[in-house]
This record gives sequence, C-alpha cells and structure tokens, in this order.
Amino acid sequence: MEFAILAETFSKMESTRKRLELTQFLVELFKKTPNETISKIVYLLQGKLRPDFEGIELGVAEKLAIKSISKSSGIPIKKIEEEYRKGGDLGHAATKILEQKTQTTFLVEDITVERVYETLFKIAKLEGNRSQDMKMKYISSLLNDANPLEASFILKILLGTLRLGVAENTVMDALSICFTSEKENRKILELAYNVSSDLGKVAEVVSSEGLDGIKKFKAILFNPIRPMLAERVKSENEAIEKMGNEFAAEYKLDGERVQIHVEGEKVVLFSRSLENISSFYPDIIEKIPETISAENIILEGEAVAINENTGEFLPFQELMHRRRKYKIEKAVSQYPITINLFDILFCNNESCLDLSYSERRKKMEDIVKENNFVKHIPMTIIKKESDIVEFFENSINAGSEGLMLKMPDKPYQAGSRGSFWLKLKREYQNELGDSLDLVVIGGYFGKGRRTGNYGTLLLASYDEDEDTFTSICKVGTGFSDESLDQLYQILYPKVTIKKNPRIDSEMEAEVWFEPELVIEVVASEITLSPIHKAARDHIRKGAGLALRFPKFTGKIRLEKTPEDASTNEEVVTLYQSQKKIAHDKSLM
Ligand code: AMP
Repeated sequence: MEFAILAETFSKMESTRKRLELTQFLVELFKKTPNETISKIVYLLQGKLRPDFEGIELGVAEKLAIKSISKSSGIPIKKIEEEYRKGGDLGHAATKILEQKTQTTFLVEDITVERVYETLFKIAKLEGNRSQDMKMKYISSLLNDANPLEASFILKILLGTLRLGVAENTVMDALSICFTSEKENRKILELAYNVSSDLGKVAEVVSSEGLDGIKKFKAILFNPIRPMLAERVKSENEAIEKMGNEFAAEYKLDGERVQIHVEGEKVVLFSRSLENISSFYPDIIEKIPETISAENIILEGEAVAINENTGEFLPFQELMHRRRKYKIEKAVSQYPITINLFDILFCNNESCLDLSYSERRKKMEDIVKENNFVKHIPMTIIKKESDIVEFFENSINAGSEGLMLKMPDKPYQAGSRGSFWLKLKREYQNELGDSLDLVVIGGYFGKGRRTGNYGTLLLASYDEDEDTFTSICKVGTGFSDESLDQLYQILYPKVTIKKNPRIDSEMEAEVWFEPELVIEVVASEITLSPIHKAARDHIRKGAGLALRFPKFTGKIRLEKTPEDASTNEEVVTLYQSQKKIAHDKSLM
C-alpha cells in the first residue's frame, strides 16, 4: 500500500480534533487498506510499532534525524536547524527543506507502508556502537525516496511527535463501522481488545475473518489483560445501597498493581498501563513460582512497600525508588515489598475471567500458598452495616487507603469500570471527600526558590465522550522541593511547541506538555467557571467546572494513563454531591 495514502490521511487528521471527523477519516483509510497491512497502520497511527507491552521503542534523537535529512537532501545541517527553530517542528521543517530538493533527485524505490514500517522496525531493533550510523543510513534512504509530506510523517513517527489525537476508542469505532454491520458488534470488538491489549491484532482479525474471528479471542499467557476497574462511592451507606445484602470487601492497599504471568520459572510482570515492569521487581520474579501449584497462571496483586521491622504498609511513593534502570538490587533490599494478591485471571491453560468472584478467590487461595512475601489480600464477607464500618477501620489502621467492594457472583470484566467493583476511600482532609487524578497539560515557570522548575501546573480532567483533556485548575501548592525537581525531570521531555489537539483549554500556559502524566490533587470545592473547560455546558450553559484551592497530594501517578484520570462525569458527580451536602446542612 502506498505510504502517500497514509500521509494524506494523517495530514487531514492533524487538522481536526473532532472525534466524528477523525473516525470518518479512519473508516476511509481502513477501506483502502489490505488485510495484511492494517495492523501496521493501527500501530503507526498511535505512533507505535507494536502494542505497548512489547516495549519496542523507536528512540531516534533529533540530532540524528537532522543529520539524516542533511544526508539525503545535501542541504547543510545549519540550514535545517534554522528552519527547525523557526517553526519548532522537525516534520514541517523537513517538508520545507525537501520541497527545495525534490526537483533534483530521482525516485529510487517506491515508498510503501510496508517498507516504512519494516525500516522503522529495523531501526528500533538496532543497538550498540555502530547503531547510530546504521540508523542514519536507514532514515536517509527513506527520506531520499519520500515526497515532502511523506518525509514529514516518517520523521514525526521516528521522533515520537506524531500526535493525531486518536485514542483506542476512536480506532474501535472506525473498525466497527468498517468491518461489522451492527452497532452492538462494537462491544464484541472491545471484548477482544480487553483480553488481548493488542489493537493491531484486533484490526487484523476483524478485517480478515470478521466477527467470527473476533469471537475467538481468549486470554493468553504473557499477553497482558486490560485491568478491571472500580467505581467510587462516598460512604458505607451508598456502598450498601449499590451492592445489596451480601458482598465481599478487601483492603485497598496503596501500592502498584501488578499482573503476574507465570509458567514454570518464567515470570513476566505488567503494570496497570500494561507496560512490562519485570525489571523493577526481581524479588517477585524470584519468589512467586515456589508458591504456585499449577502449570501456569495469571494473577493480579498490589505490590506494597513495607517497613520490614514492623510489617506496616508504607505509602505508594516509596515504590518509586524501584523505578530505575541501574542498581535495582540495592533498591530491592532498601525498599522491601510484599505482593498482595487479589485475583486470578488464568490457570492451567484456561481463562478464569468468566468465573464468579467467589470462585476465583477460592481458586486463588487453593493454588497459591502464602508466605512472608506473597499474601492473599485481606478479605471479609459483609452482611450488615456494622461489618463494613469495622472492616474499613481495620483496613485504615493497617495503613491502607480504604476498601474495595466486590460482588461475589460477578465475572472479571477486563478493561471496564463497572459497578461490580466499588472503591470506598478514606476521607482526605479536603472537604470534597475525595482526591482527583488529573492530567498535567501545561506549566508556568517558578519564581524565587522555584526558579528553574515549573512552579505552577495546569491540570485537566478526562472528557470520555470527546476523548479530550479539559482544563480544570492551576495548582501551585503542595509541592516539596524534591517533588518539584522530580516533576521537572518527568515533564521536561513532554514539552511541545504546539498544544496537543486533545487538550481543550482556553487558559494559556507558558509551556504545553503532551497530556501523559497524571498527578493526584485535593481541593476545597468545585465551582462553576467561565474559563475552565471541564464539563462545559453541563451544569450551566457557557460555564465549566473548576477546582477551588487545589493542592498537590505528593502523589505522581506514574502507573496511570491519562485516560485513567478523573472523568468529567466523576467531576459532575462530585459537584452535585457537594451541593446536596450544602443543601442538607442548610435544612438542619
Ligand atoms: P484507583 O487507583 O483509586 O482507581 O483504585 C484502583 C486501584 O487500587 C487498582 O488499580 C489497584 O492498583 C489498587 N488496589 C488496591 N487494593 C485492591 C484490591 N483489593 N482489589 C483491586 N484493586 C486494588
């Protein structure tokens, strides 16, 4: 398939952020795509080569890209850098530069999607001393044969700056329109994605085998399953109302969720956002196999930092010391953990997703032996209100965040936030009764002690319908010097010249970031706002919602993807519940 078709579609997609239009462009594109190429296109349009869990990264630096443009065009590096500085986007700079060059060179080989993909794949796989030269050779051979528009998108993919604003949901909408006739079929596609976490594979199967192929998707070992999530409730009463007479409650520990795949001695660990995190937890890899009496298994648990002397649970931040490339052995002994299991998703070559919670819990207890390091998360069956009050207190006293409540007769719903699981968190000192996880979209440079760091951040909630990140507040309090440094290190590489099209903000920022990092804040109140965009028009026409007196809690939620951030629906619920409390108080 000609790469020009893809480049033209990308170019059209860059000019809109409307989900319906994006979907339509994708439908037209998929219709023109051969079955054997569609998975490649699905990865490429998300700026990837393979699903995240395979950890294949392109990692080409700007300098190398500039050298390659120079090599293929004969134009001096200085001139390319000048053009780049003018616009701030190397893809666009390359278009301009190469427009000057195309009259003088000859096309050597056709640029196809397959060729671009394979060359990028080779580049990603290169390692070692001579890899830079080889990478440059591959890049300039592509650029040599590409027209300016094609070259600009090849560079954007290479540099990781392709931002088309399409999320998985939009891709699934388009696949469903294109390859399945009924609207309900969208759900079946989603199920396949939820158990495989591989949208490229879903696209390939639906385009070649249709729904029959999609229905055959099953959980498989060493391929992460998208995690089941919980809805939040504010009180024990609300929990009982939603859960019914009898349900399970577990401690909600404050650590990192880990999906553990084991077969014999082979162990692979995936994070909540489906990245391979095996290297951070060599202790889990070493100690889990001996506790399991099954041929193979997929378990879920919470890795929690502990005080080895007292056995107490420590806060989530302690685990961040484990996120390092080198000297991990030292971090393992300095920051010990336990792994607290709460689910079993697969066992002895069979999926356990359709078993009920009670059946899964029993199976997990039967098959996995507890020891000092591997635990079953504390659980009890709640039959009356006093049970939940008591268990909640015990859990807080043990250093946990609250409770997870689970319906005993329900299956594991991969990838969805349904009402089969609820979370009841400890009240923070904030009057809202809950913290919010928000996406960092912009920054403002600090003054005084904060010079050289971002002193204030612009935050956004997630609009699920539009698939955008809507501004909700600026936050400048709650930061320690250490956290400001850490945030700077994380955010600096995410700076962009142009605001990402998925950001919806009227408020200007001094720097814009790719909407990727999630942090936790508390606030005193949610108010209507003429400038912020969260849940705009929802409560009152022309007004959005904003947080009043927001404060950073110190938690950088590296394990969350931006789509895991608090949604506008949740913000509206919080807004309405505070109104209700105020109303009730006024009646007292
Ligand atoms: P939240 O991050 O507030 O949406 O809460 C969901 C997270 O709580 C999960 O992703 C897990 O990391 C964590 N968690 C802690 N304890 C449990 C438990 N017993 N069951 C399920 N998730 C748990």
